[in-house]
Amino acid sequence: MPNYSHHAMTIIDGSQGEGGGQMVRSALALALVTGRPCRIENIRAGRQKPGLRRQHLAAVEAAVHVGRAEVEGAWLGSRQLDFRPRDVRPGEFHLDVGTAGSTTLVTQTVLPALLTASGSARITVTGGTHNPLAPPFEFLAQAYLPLLERLGPLCRPRLVRPGFYPAGGGKIEVEVRPTARLGGLVIVERGPLVSRRLRATVARLPGHIAERECRTFLAESGWDDGCCEVIERHDTAGPGNALVAELAFEHLTEVFCTLGRLGLRAEEVARRLWREVSAYLAADAPVGPYLADQLMLPLGLSAWQGGGGEFRTTTISSHARTHADLLRRLLDVDIAIACEGPQSYRVRVG
Ligand code: AMP
Repeated sequence: MPNYSHHAMTIIDGSQGEGGGQMVRSALALALVTGRPCRIENIRAGRQKPGLRRQHLAAVEAAVHVGRAEVEGAWLGSRQLDFRPRDVRPGEFHLDVGTAGSTTLVTQTVLPALLTASGSARITVTGGTHNPLAPPFEFLAQAYLPLLERLGPLCRPRLVRPGFYPAGGGKIEVEVRPTARLGGLVIVERGPLVSRRLRATVARLPGHIAERECRTFLAESGWDDGCCEVIERHDTAGPGNALVAELAFEHLTEVFCTLGRLGLRAEEVARRLWREVSAYLAADAPVGPYLADQLMLPLGLSAWQGGGGEFRTTTISSHARTHADLLRRLLDVDIAIACEGPQSYRVRVG
């Protein structure tokens, strides 16, 4: 008989709070790290198409693979999932999201367990690398993973090939060298701006799209020409366009991205990105809205292992609040969120 966990099953109400896919992914991530089985009920109950969608199933499959887990209810439209992890064996993992599902969200589901595994791992995920409503590859590589590295492990990402909706077919790799225990992390100031970059990627589309995006963004922002980089790719499964701004400060790097799509003019892509970047620059808290909800889980794990941390963010999204509730309950850690002024919240974990 396989040796599945003897812990009592944790019951999670998937319709609580933000009630989306993140509940499923974070519950799986925490089950993998703690070795505790979980049942997720009412999965995405409030959504238009409730239950598990294909991209959530990809995360479930990835978690099953990495945790050599037993699972019940892993089918399209399923509203309840039982997940019983066995153990996390490091090594090589090849995960396929299928079509254009987000490779970065799948990576974030299994990565936490590999940060403190007994040996090195390499995760290769195929699917979408630049998706709406998910972290783009550059965000994972420049903003998220460097902060995880400050907790101790080494996380080295590589974009093998971009993948865009709807064709997908992108590929990313993350190499992980674990640490025995996660350390703490404090990010309360940005520090001085060290560099800023604008990267316009066009895949199987005319180069003038990227050039117009750069021109418009530079005109709006006043950044100089030297900040711009145009990347033309011909090796993708389908066409796509991503405009990415990277702001490197002394204490962290933030990344913002707008995706081009049919019917959205290149100039408008650039203006939307600048609106997002300028809103962030106008505030002074270091951690942006997306990074804030994504940092909570690794910091929660650090606190669970005796570390913890603190950061200041511009925004507490409903994702972030939901995440905080889940972590408090599943890891029994303290998470305090205090508003300190407009666009300034202090989050203390542990
Ligand atoms: P869900 O909506 O539950 O599927 O979760 C989406 C996740 O993707 C959240 O953790 C968001 O912070 C993250 N996310 C969405 N858009 C972006 C973006 N433009 N940059 C970085 N992360 C993002």
